[in-house]
Amino acid sequence: MSTIFTKIIKGEIPSYKIAENDQFFAFLDINPNAIGHTLVVPKKEVNKIFELDKETYRGLMDYSYDIAQAIEKVVPCKRVGMTVIGLEVPHVHVHLIPLNNMSDATFGKKIQMGEEDFKKLAQRISAEL
Ligand code: 5GP
Repeated sequence: MSTIFTKIIKGEIPSYKIAENDQFFAFLDINPNAIGHTLVVPKKEVNKIFELDKETYRGLMDYSYDIAQAIEKVVPCKRVGMTVIGLEVPHVHVHLIPLNNMSDATFGKKIQMGEEDFKKLAQRISAEL
């Protein structure tokens, strides 16, 4: 069965998309730690990050780099942090999280955002790429 992220990539489930190319897809996390919390996913459905072939792994880092630069131009923050967990969704993804304090990096604290705010934010980050 396809993962929820594969369904998002295929457009079967909606998302606030930032960008995609033939191998990767970036979109806003639906339950963000902080404004601008983004997920970058390889289209290839692989469970764990260190199960990726090295070329895809390097490509994921490279793509995440570009997305992080765009996030930092739009979202005021001290820096964009990168986290890989994957305990909830068994499809490799990098979390890019604008950080202002340590609690932004922990997954206990969540923020609420409305649909319009998500939409506008994704568009603004996308426009910086
Ligand atoms: P992890 O697998 O790294 O522990 O966490 C999965 C992340 O995916 C969580 O931050 C969660 O909010 C996010 N997530 C789970 N389902 C969806 C979804 O359907 N859409 C979006 N945009 N994010 C999701």
